Amino acid sequence: MSDIQNNLQIVREKISKACVRNKEQIRKADDVNLVAVSKKQPIERIHQMLDAGQRLYGENRVQEALERWSDLREQYPDLILHLIGPLQTNKVSDAVTMFDVIETVDRPKLVTVLVKEMKKQDRFVPCFVQVNTGEEAQKAGIAPHELSDFLKLCEDEGLSIIGLMCIPPVDEPAALHFAFLKKLADQHGLKELSMGMSGDFEKAVPLGATYIRVGTALFGERPTQQ
Ligand SMILES: *Cc1c(COP(=O)(O)O)cnc(C)c1O
Repeated sequence: MSDIQNNLQIVREKISKACVRNKEQIRKADDVNLVAVSKKQPIERIHQMLDAGQRLYGENRVQEALERWSDLREQYPDLILHLIGPLQTNKVSDAVTMFDVIETVDRPKLVTVLVKEMKKQDRFVPCFVQVNTGEEAQKAGIAPHELSDFLKLCEDEGLSIIGLMCIPPVDEPAALHFAFLKKLADQHGLKELSMGMSGDFEKAVPLGATYIRVGTALFGERPTQQ
């Protein structure tokens, strides 16, 4: 068994365990989708992950995703790609072509540009709204108190929002932010929740995550940039 296969198995076991509390099944493991975050990982590791059967991947940069996934997409027709990083409006066209889900809708201008491009390509990509649950100045995302108005705007413009995504502040308990995101999603009748990474996905699962974004725990450390 390769390291990658082994990691995949370990993460899957942890997901299953996180679905049980006091011997009671509180979630169905099948309801938790594992997004393998392949950003910056060497292509060999991605091939190993594909060999292990994983088909759902997350990338945080449009350009990097294009370079490595364009050919693989044709080879693996059942591949699903999520954009999990910030989207610049000049990359919207490529993003709509390339991704099956965009998790990082975070401003009105982007909504307008996405809707226009989706119509042009006749390709309607479901989206998440990224919520800045910690209201951090340097972090992307809609502030919680602006979420209602923003979702209304998405609806008016005709952008399909299926869920919410968050990246909690590093210095606060992640569980508080996961519970908050779940509450916001419930308030707005949204089904999908993208929350939890390598360090905290076991906390996100019992709190309702339907997508967890796991990189390092699956692929190993990302090589440091030159
Ligand atoms: C890199 C990244 C992840 C994965 O992080 P790990 O700690 O390696 O699991 C998840 N979500 C987003 C938005 C990321 O940029």
